[in-house]
Amino acid sequence: MIYLDNSATSKPSALALKAFVEASELYFANSASPHKAGRESNRLVESSRSKILKAVHLENSHKCLFCSGATEANNLALKGIAFQYARRGKTIITDMGEHSSVKNACKELGERFGYNIVSLPLNEEGKVDPKELEKAMNNDVILVSILAVNNETGAINDVKKLGEIVHKFPKAYFHVDATQAIGKENFDYNAADLLSFSGHKFGAPKGTGALLYKKTIKFVPISNGGEQENGYRAGTVDVPGCYSLALAFEDVIKKLKEHRENASSLMEELEKGISSIEECSINSPKGHSPYILNFTLKKKKASVVVEALSQKEIYISTHSACDISSNQGSPVLLAMGKSQEDAENALRVSFSYESKMEEVETFLVELKRILSEIKDR
Ligand code: PMP
Repeated sequence: MIYLDNSATSKPSALALKAFVEASELYFANSASPHKAGRESNRLVESSRSKILKAVHLENSHKCLFCSGATEANNLALKGIAFQYARRGKTIITDMGEHSSVKNACKELGERFGYNIVSLPLNEEGKVDPKELEKAMNNDVILVSILAVNNETGAINDVKKLGEIVHKFPKAYFHVDATQAIGKENFDYNAADLLSFSGHKFGAPKGTGALLYKKTIKFVPISNGGEQENGYRAGTVDVPGCYSLALAFEDVIKKLKEHRENASSLMEELEKGISSIEECSINSPKGHSPYILNFTLKKKKASVVVEALSQKEIYISTHSACDISSNQGSPVLLAMGKSQEDAENALRVSFSYESKMEEVETFLVELKRILSEIKDR
């Protein structure tokens, strides 16, 4: 199998799986139970929290809230802040390149709860232009939510610069969805008042993730029950999940440079190969993440090509797995100014740190063969 759909999810790492199994066997007691076994489980959760914060040097400024992944973390960040700070203002700024978990949480806050949602355009590089954010900021803004790396195009936003603009307004918080950046792209973590991610994008098990947030921030919880996770996320804590997430997180942050060098050389080869195919045009902007390449097929139907590759056990995507129901073309590509036709016929190849050169070479050979064999659309 050649798996090149790592933006959707990645294979769990041996390190994370081993940690998960070990912690499941040894630390199965409820971390909120008052007995010794419960306290030991709790200690593992707390040390996992510290590992994550320390790995990105946020131990003095931020807290870590464990949750099921970026969708939940994004919803908690957006709704929790919106409800908590409603008296400060009613405007939330986001942009047209966000994942559906941010986009739809904002939609809900706008349509059902009357917040004023401002969605910034993308420039032709698929990024938020800091000048657009500067123009949109005002004293009614309580939250700005902009992702670090786009999951479809690999466009990289300038988190530091955007954070500086937000922080000129003391009532506004800056939330960064860092799901496609963790272990892949170095950025100024400290610029984010709130930062979300999912573990399964970097080798931890699915159903793990976290929201890191400044110690001074308070939320209205979006689920109620016990007092777990500071009362912000009720329910029995997934101790093995927290532990394996923390180990995978530490590992990919430590090896970011080495992994990135590997991904960059694979990306160079991939881009060279795709550029040499006349009917392919690359959508990812200059300086995109070395883990993601998005391109359009000018003559063939993308879904037919994905299926033909899949028959050869080569797995790539037509679009974000989370926008699977939309057949109207990628909203991100449309927001970048691509044509409807281009946005409907795009392919995405995405690497993990385990991806190999032979896989890229075989993918290119098979893609060219398929393009020469199937009919134009
Ligand atoms: N944000 C981004 C940028 C993503 O790529 C994803 C996953 N595709 C998510 C949020 C949601 O992650 P999950 O499905 O693990 O909750």
